[in-house]
Amino acid sequence: TVMAANTEKTFKFVVVGGGIAGVTCAEQLASQFPSADVALLTAAPLIKAVCNFKQVSKTLEEFDVEERPSSVLEEKYPNLRVIQSAVKALHAQQHTLQTVDGLEIHYEKLCICSGGRPKLLTQDNPYVLGIRDTDSAQEFQKRLSKARRIVVVGNGGIALELVYEVEGCEVIWAVKDKAIGNTFFDAGAAQFLIPSLDTDKPERAATCKRARYTIEGRGLEEPGSALGPDWHEGISLRGAEEVSSWPVYAQLTNGKTFGCDFIVSATGVVPNTEPFLQGNSFALAEDSGLKVDDHMMTSEPDVYAAGDVCTAGWEPSHLWQQMRLWTQARQMGWYAGRCMAADVLSETIELDFCFELFSHITKFFNYKVVLLGKFNGQGLGLNQELLVRCTKGHEYVKVVLSGGRMLGAVLIGETDLEETFENLILNQMDLTPYGEELLNPNIDIEDYFD
Ligand code: FAD
Repeated sequence: TVMAANTEKTFKFVVVGGGIAGVTCAEQLASQFPSADVALLTAAPLIKAVCNFKQVSKTLEEFDVEERPSSVLEEKYPNLRVIQSAVKALHAQQHTLQTVDGLEIHYEKLCICSGGRPKLLTQDNPYVLGIRDTDSAQEFQKRLSKARRIVVVGNGGIALELVYEVEGCEVIWAVKDKAIGNTFFDAGAAQFLIPSLDTDKPERAATCKRARYTIEGRGLEEPGSALGPDWHEGISLRGAEEVSSWPVYAQLTNGKTFGCDFIVSATGVVPNTEPFLQGNSFALAEDSGLKVDDHMMTSEPDVYAAGDVCTAGWEPSHLWQQMRLWTQARQMGWYAGRCMAADVLSETIELDFCFELFSHITKFFNYKVVLLGKFNGQGLGLNQELLVRCTKGHEYVKVVLSGGRMLGAVLIGETDLEETFENLILNQMDLTPYGEELLNPNIDIEDYFD
């Protein structure tokens, strides 16, 4: 019938999600198969594009993320259709998707890149915000302009960025770990970064910036995490005198209660899997992501997944771990596209080199930050040795060694060590003979290992 013709569409490749993973995957497929029909299905009107891509070293890559109208993609790839309509159901056996607008889409190969959404402390509370996309960021800005005090909950990259960026409003930062930025840093790096919170930021006059830190548990008494006067100030915060009325109160497990205008929940993401699960039998990981194998394949035939929605289910290299970041969304999207292509062409493909070594380059508190391998000694337990070099306000360098080999590093500031350390980690050379000389600032380490 005419109805069916309008609402049913068939594509060789269908990618769901207009984020970095989905866009990269769709571009990869559209360029590798110029005569195949590729569809990118997405709920949002804008897509995310990678720009200013720079390969900094073997594994380190740097790029910016921009939101663009989807027409940009269709102009670049004539065989790529962007359909703005959210997926409501998947019938994996039949190889079809249904969208909220009543479209039925058939695919030969599907890649799910639907990302994640903020894990909220409580659902449906108007005073609890999660930040995820431009909409929620705008909502945040609007609310912030009228706020006197906010409570930020969480200790990952988003929380770190927030407490540094927010101005003109008091910030109570509730952190459950011993040190700030626990996802990325240890106590030493945190200590290095904390003074930046009270320093005027470059190029902008900090009007009124009072960040306070609150920690639960006994963290502060432990040696090695004496984090300076700011932290102590944090634990003896008001609390009881909070009798004036606020729109919302946050009660922390240390017994303190803080009133505030709103709470920002920045405690990680939950993979957006719901529309795809019903009626199918996807293997899910503990973090509820779609489990994928070393070909980015889910447990359903012809269904792949990449980016924040998926969880790496393969036996990872001992120097790599999954973290839900732009870099990995791009790498996974790109590799998933190549795996789908290889599958169609009956070619074999090996796990990409980018999954050999975890590497991430970013900025925190206006410092360049490079993270390599097991930068926080992840999974090493007591079987690790740390070397640290720190110059206040200038740089922080930490190396994680195990059995004399370098397994990870944190480089904050303009250290210029990333390439050398990346090589030392990749080649797993025995560094025992060098001892602490490895971080001696008077030795040009690059010459040393040439
Ligand atoms: P997403 O970017 O979440 O894209 C998912 C896409 O799927 C969206 O287009 C959405 O509309 C679409 N979608 C969802 N459900 C459906 C459906 N049912 N039907 C159709 N379409 C659907 N990482 C960094 O490396 N550096 C940073 O500085 C950084 N800052 C961040 C700041 C914030 C506030 C947040 C929330 C995250 C940040 N991250 C950062 C993490 C990074 O954004 C994510 O890891 C990355 O964007 C994941 O990409 P993705 O393509 O998997 O998912």
